[in-house]
Amino acid sequence: MKTGNRILSGYGTTVFEVFSRLAAEHGSINLGQGFPDDRGPPEVLDEAIRALRDDSNQYPSMMGTPALRQALAAHAQRFYGLDVDWQREVMVTSGATEALAACLLGLIEPGDEVVLFEPLYDSYLPIILLAGGIPRLVTLRPPAWSFSRDDLAAAFSPKTKLVLINDPLNPAAKVFSADELALIAEFVLACDAYAICDEVYEHIVFDGRRHIPLMTLPGMRERCLKIGSAGKTFSLTGWKVGYITAAPALLQPVAKAHQFLTFTTPPNLQSAVAFGLGLETGYFTGLAAAMQAKRDRLGAGLERAGLTVLPSAGSYFIIADYGATGFEGDDVAFCRAITIEAGVTAIPVSAFYAGSGSSRCVRFCFCKRDDMLDEASSRLARHFSRR
Ligand code: PMP
Ligand code: GLN
Repeated sequence: MKTGNRILSGYGTTVFEVFSRLAAEHGSINLGQGFPDDRGPPEVLDEAIRALRDDSNQYPSMMGTPALRQALAAHAQRFYGLDVDWQREVMVTSGATEALAACLLGLIEPGDEVVLFEPLYDSYLPIILLAGGIPRLVTLRPPAWSFSRDDLAAAFSPKTKLVLINDPLNPAAKVFSADELALIAEFVLACDAYAICDEVYEHIVFDGRRHIPLMTLPGMRERCLKIGSAGKTFSLTGWKVGYITAAPALLQPVAKAHQFLTFTTPPNLQSAVAFGLGLETGYFTGLAAAMQAKRDRLGAGLERAGLTVLPSAGSYFIIADYGATGFEGDDVAFCRAITIEAGVTAIPVSAFYAGSGSSRCVRFCFCKRDDMLDEASSRLARHFSRR
């Protein structure tokens, strides 16, 4: 038998699926895969139901419905002061995952170099390799997750086609500082490159921080493709509605890829997301405040259980170092052990590294009901006090 695609055959099932299945098998509290158990804003759900019943259910425009593209342009103006032409600079995709694939497949030519920061989200590397790109990694390590000018100088070159950044960064829960973004922008300009900005957690930043899209920095408006996800912004991850904002010259090749990937996205979900993006600013600040309270709740619980918690500046996630528990194995073994023996599931941070991963760090997801967070903390405390 001839084999399937060699690049994809080299990958196993994604770590999120693996640990969600293990959690289900053992009835453990799943703080692994990042999805909220909140049901999402009721008025957004109502609008989806209305649109499903009353509006067209045929293919919408491949670029997205006018209502959603207009809402995205208004959102970019309201939150970032960006002037966006909804007809030429916005495209709706089936989740940020598809947006990422469309950007990478639409822009990379075989042999192009792509700069990435690891830890990295699992879909980035396989798509870059499928497109024939050559990854150049900048490795960030806990607890600081910092990088220097020299690190960027070692990764960028005249062959750099683009850099891919994820800000806030999953799983590190790092928010890039204005200085770090300025440094990246400097290299993008010097190398005549583009930047794909995975900003799915743009509204989930904590402690009074402000999310700064790289696109808003001098010289970056024409070079960035900004990706967002309604899944994160409205706690509706199963909807898979994503979006890309970019200058027309960048969006055009990406639209060519999108038309052959999914072509379009369900129209009723687009209507509901358009409605959601128009909600009062209090909705968006409320989301961040609610997530921050959950971060604090789980963080305190993990500390009580004997783990050492790292700062979390944004996203759904908090990283914990299990060194002080005395557990001897690697992070994969730790996540398996706490799933099976303690009834709590987390994700090993090494899964986000292409090469050798970081030691003793695991990722917990806190976008869950408070009673679940408390029960998870108690289970871990009981488990480690017995050891
Ligand atoms: N990028 C990052 C960093 C993510 O954490 C996720 C998802 N969870 C995605 C992209 C994918 O988003 P979506 O579900 O909208 O495809
Ligand atoms: N982004 C989610 C996470 O990091 C998972 C999405 C997925 O399962 N592909 O947990």
